Order: sequence, then structure tokens, then C-alpha cells
Amino acid sequence: MAFNSARFLVSASKVKECPPDEGSEVAFAGRSNAGKSSAINAITVNSKLARTSKTPGRTRLINFFSLNRPGCRLVDLPGYGYAKVAKDMQEDWQKHLDDYLSRRECLHGLVLVMDIRHPLQDFDRMMIEWCEHSQMPLMILATKADKLKSGQAKQAMTKIRQALKDVSCLEHLIQFSALKKQGLEQARDALEGWLEA
Ligand code: GDP
Repeated sequence: MAFNSARFLVSASKVKECPPDEGSEVAFAGRSNAGKSSAINAITVNSKLARTSKTPGRTRLINFFSLNRPGCRLVDLPGYGYAKVAKDMQEDWQKHLDDYLSRRECLHGLVLVMDIRHPLQDFDRMMIEWCEHSQMPLMILATKADKLKSGQAKQAMTKIRQALKDVSCLEHLIQFSALKKQGLEQARDALEGWLEA
């Protein structure tokens, strides 16, 4: 699959605006600023792709990108944390995401992007629990690994692996850096496996 063929398809503010629930999708989630857009851009070799999702007004939407294999899509879920100040916005976000996650039949896997220096925050744990509960295959990208020395990064990975040793839905835990292009091939191989399943 050519990930560099990814193109913006549509933004949805509710489930009924999503593309038809057919084919296969993999969705990316993460706290805002974790590095989710940079990860999507690095994987798709398109420095502008996920910026689409960051244009004002789109940050709280679900953004769909098509790939060159018919029916295969990457999905950028709204970054968690934008609505820190407004509780009702937070609830909106939550409901929107819940609807998508719980209803989407074509969702084959979830990629959780975490800053390797601040892993397993409340939001991350919530997403991991949801995946475990729903038996949704999970991939974790521990990103910004370039910000740590290699020994520290290795240690951080060991800690994360240890903390998640009982999480059976966790299929891939990848040390990642969008900046240094680390973990890209591993992430693409895993995505391909899920999308073609
Ligand atoms: P998002 O809000 O999760 O989509 O986060 P962004 O992708 O916009 O990244 C947030 C900030 O972290 C930006 O300043 C990025 O340049 C930076 N960033 C993202 N990924 C990396 C990475 O792998 N290494 C480094 N050093 N910085 C990164």
C-alpha cells in the first residue's frame, strides 16, 4: 500500500457525516500536542496532510484520508485537550468520539500517539481501556523519541511495556520519531496488516 498516496477525503462533525461504513479504517488518537499530526504526516510522507485537520474549525472534527487501495482510509480523531477550559465542549468531544468508536464497523485498529516523555496519561489510559473492552487492536506510537538519549528512550519503552503487559489488545508498541523518521516502516507494516485484514 502506498501511504504517500493519502489524500484528504472529508471532515465529519457527527457519525452520519462520515463516509459509508465500508472497507477498512485505522484511526489515530492522542492528546493535543502529543505529536499525532506529525506522526500522520511522517507516515504518509506528506508534510501538509494532517495540517488540514488543524485548520481552525476542523480541530474538533473527525478527518478522513483515503489511500490508494479502494476502501482503505486513515482517520484523524480530534486531539484531546483543546477544550480544557470549557466542560461542555469537552463533553461534546467525548460524545462525538464515543459515537464514532462504538458504531464504526469498518474500524480495524486504533493508533494511540503518546509523547514518550509523558506516557500513559489519563486520556491514554481511557483509550487503552476502551480498546481492551472492545477488543480493538491497538498500536502505540511512543513519539518524540529523539528528545531522549537512546538509553533513556529504551528505559521509557521498557517501562511502558511493563505497565501494559496485561493489555491483550496491544499488538504494536513502537518507539517513534516523526523528526528522525524512526519507526515509520514498522508503523506502516502494522497499518497495512490491519487495513488488509
Ligand atoms: P498534535 O497536536 O498531537 O497533532 O501534535 P503536533 O504533531 O502538531 O506536534 C506538536 C509539537 O511537537 C510540534 O511543535 C511538533 O513539531 C513537535 N513534534 C511532533 N513530533 C515530534 C517528534 O517526533 N520529535 C520532535 N522533536 N518534535 C515533534
